[in-house]
Amino acid sequence: MTDVFCADCGTECRLVDGRDVDPRDPEIADVRVWGCPVCPAAWAHHAPSVGVPAAAPAGLETRNARELLAERMIYPLIHEATGGQENLQPLAIDRLTGFLADRMSIEPEACEVVRFDLEQCRAAWKALRGVTFDDVRQWAQRHRRIRAPARSGAGTEA
Ligand SMILES: [Zn+2]
Repeated sequence: MTDVFCADCGTECRLVDGRDVDPRDPEIADVRVWGCPVCPAAWAHHAPSVGVPAAAPAGLETRNARELLAERMIYPLIHEATGGQENLQPLAIDRLTGFLADRMSIEPEACEVVRFDLEQCRAAWKALRGVTFDDVRQWAQRHRRIRAPARSGAGTEA
């Protein structure tokens, strides 16, 4: 199993009872969570099926920032791209991830809102402010051309 680190302070987290992390939070009262031994009430849900946390453990401020980023920036762009059609979502998410990673100068693999720290949430917010999915689409087209110059030829190979 890979080590799990707190997004807020970088300390290694452990799988503990939610009650021990924050006794006032009903969301984690009866479940095991990944808790930071340093930050107060910093945690992430456990995903038993994959054996890793569903997010990078973080305190309330970071978790709220991620939620806000998803609700106000990410979901509206995805909805704009797909018109609510679920089968179009994977492509839209893929393009948006590439676009955002490029603007934030991080690897696409590291561009996951649930793993962002507070600074990254702020950077992502700035990067997506005023952006429409047309911008993302144009970026994706340019990016594809750069990545695959060999395919600029005229179509089918017999
Ligand atoms: Zn921490």
